[in-house]
Amino acid sequence: MDSYATLLKREDACESGNEFDGRLGLRISSIFVIMVGSLFGALFPVFARRWSQSGGFPQWAFFVAKYFGSGVIIATAFIHLLAPAEEALTNECLTGPITEYSWVEGIVLMTIVVLFFVELMVMRFSRFGQGHVHDEEGHAHTHLPDESTVSNDSTEPKNHILGEDHLGHTREHHDNSDDESPNYIHAVEDYAAQLTSIFILEFGIIFHSIFIGLTLAVSGEEFITLYIVLVFHQTFEGLGLGSRLATIPWPKSKRNTPYFLGLAFGVSTPIAIAIGLGVRNSYPPTGRTTLIVNGVFDSISAGILIYTALVELMAHEFMFSHSMRKAPISHVLIAFFLLCAGAALMAVLGKWA
Ligand SMILES: [Zn+2]
Ligand SMILES: [Zn+2]
Ligand SMILES: [Zn+2]
Repeated sequence: MDSYATLLKREDACESGNEFDGRLGLRISSIFVIMVGSLFGALFPVFARRWSQSGGFPQWAFFVAKYFGSGVIIATAFIHLLAPAEEALTNECLTGPITEYSWVEGIVLMTIVVLFFVELMVMRFSRFGQGHVHDEEGHAHTHLPDESTVSNDSTEPKNHILGEDHLGHTREHHDNSDDESPNYIHAVEDYAAQLTSIFILEFGIIFHSIFIGLTLAVSGEEFITLYIVLVFHQTFEGLGLGSRLATIPWPKSKRNTPYFLGLAFGVSTPIAIAIGLGVRNSYPPTGRTTLIVNGVFDSISAGILIYTALVELMAHEFMFSHSMRKAPISHVLIAFFLLCAGAALMAVLGKWA
């Protein structure tokens, strides 16, 4: 047990404020530059997907954004969330129960188990009951009898577009059905399941965005480096999130939801920078509360992104989606290299932020 005097001294060292050193104009400019980058990253895949479906945009644009974005999410999970969580919770300023267990791994483990259970239940109750099943063949469809009466020649065998996943195709099956048909109900349930996972992912990514915004606002001599790195950081992370937003078969009534979710991501870092500038005289990036809050939330976010990356982006997208199973090997390899490029670039950026 430390003596009271030692504790006090340690507290001083840990709550020593931040390294803010002026350059307010430049810091304010970062609010707008980073906002433009994040909005572009998050909204480009959504536009690319929508325009390429109407033929106004080359299909490869969405394909590139999607697999590059998947790589970004994988690297973010490990380099931008797991590593800082570990650093925060093992900081020597912390004392007590938080230092007596490997909480980061514990929280990641709990998050993954919870997500797995939620997805398992959602799959059972919203998909198996509707005759839409994943079997060993990958993706088998035993559609409700009503479907044949709803679909007409114009909706029949459309090719799955490049980069579409096993969930994305539901749009084709349901787009032309009217709101009262059983297919619509099926689509709504699929949509509910995917909405849950996209909100979980959005939360995981936004938390990191808020914290790096606060950090940038009060950073010291490394401000310029951090500024440049974060422009790319947020643009790439936006691509990761945006390509997930674009993949979901949003019903017609919710066509604007992906734009709102992209917008929410786009403003998260700028708002955090503004708040950080507002509290620049009192915000302590290495204060105990900051360390614990950041460590715990980073751990939860890491669990979310690790699960999404391994299960959705790697296993489902590459191995179980019918567009990938039917694609020529060259497409699969290009997708794989895009994923590597996204992961590698994001991993390198992790050196600074
Ligand atoms: Zn980061
Ligand atoms: Zn299908
Ligand atoms: Zn699947």
